[in-house]
Amino acid sequence: SRSSSPPRIRRLEASVVNRIAAGEVIQRPSAAVKELVENSLDAASTSVSVSVKDGGLKLLLVSDDGHGIRHEDLPILCERHTTSKLSKYEDLQTIKSMGFRGEALASMTYVGHVTVTTITEGQLHGYRVSYRDGVMEHEPKPCAAVKGTQIMVENLFYNMAARRKTLQNSNDDYPKIVDLISRFAVHYMNMNFSCRKYGSNRADVHTVGGSSRLDAIRTVYGASVARDLMEISVSDDNPTRSIFKMEGFISNSNYLAKKTTMILFINDRLVDCTALKRAVELVYSATLPKASKPFIYMSINLPSDHVDVNIHPTKREVSLLNQDSLIDTIQSAIEAKLMSSNSTRIFQTQV
Ligand code: ADP
Ligand code: MG
Repeated sequence: SRSSSPPRIRRLEASVVNRIAAGEVIQRPSAAVKELVENSLDAASTSVSVSVKDGGLKLLLVSDDGHGIRHEDLPILCERHTTSKLSKYEDLQTIKSMGFRGEALASMTYVGHVTVTTITEGQLHGYRVSYRDGVMEHEPKPCAAVKGTQIMVENLFYNMAARRKTLQNSNDDYPKIVDLISRFAVHYMNMNFSCRKYGSNRADVHTVGGSSRLDAIRTVYGASVARDLMEISVSDDNPTRSIFKMEGFISNSNYLAKKTTMILFINDRLVDCTALKRAVELVYSATLPKASKPFIYMSINLPSDHVDVNIHPTKREVSLLNQDSLIDTIQSAIEAKLMSSNSTRIFQTQV
């Protein structure tokens, strides 16, 4: 009733707090894969392979050939807020690594079963150890291992009935995972990436480092996409505005698609920027007569203090200083490129 006394406020148990937070960092299997691949990139790997069972709900396996994890760090590896990347708040401003919060692996242990196999340089054998709720389940066991680290996540969301059900009822996350690895493979063209369903001998993404950007796009997205792309670059070093460099590939007037593909990296981080995507779509619809959505691969580099990477737990959205003027500059560059290519084409057909 209205006059009842207020309910008591109680402190939540740490395990409850951790599971709630974990569900936010790891929203779906593809989010776990993104965190794992970013850890592999941070570990200076040259090869990353991903294997997925049951849309990632049964099994996610990410293997790399990076620097590995020290035996003495294994006990705290999956605790919340343990990281080798950040030590003081100010580091956030200049941080080059993808990770910094020390939350990803911990989160996975609160919503799934995590097993780590790793070996560091010069060791005769590696170690394997499993984690639950942030802690090691047993002492690391010596095992045979190849260079780098393999992280296995089993039974994701086993303890979150609603999440599991929603994911099981929707389309499985495997296409999202393929899409994610495709994007990384295009940007990190000097690395090897593979992504497959567990047990399948056919990879759905498979790139070998050392090719050109266009080759990487061709390998991942197909020759018909690569054929209709134009190279673009802009740099703006007007000191009163943000200093930035943009380079990439954009589709020309022959390209036909119902959906926009926008692969965006800002300071080598895979991100989304809805405002930029809309702005680019607008240029295409205003410049090209055909109602086709564009294909865009764009890599933007800004001084690191112009990008705030810490606005979202998944780190997928970033906020940019002078975002409006930056978008204007990119819009003009794309418009100019489309106009010139269009007129060249018309000119050529007339001749
Ligand atoms: P963060 O990436 O924010 O530091 P994570 O929970 O993702 O936090 O990882 C915790 C730590 O574990 C990292 O700082 C890193 O030292 C180590 N680590 C995780 N994955 C790998 C990997 N694949 N190779 C080497 N070290 C790793
Ligand atoms: Mg990380």
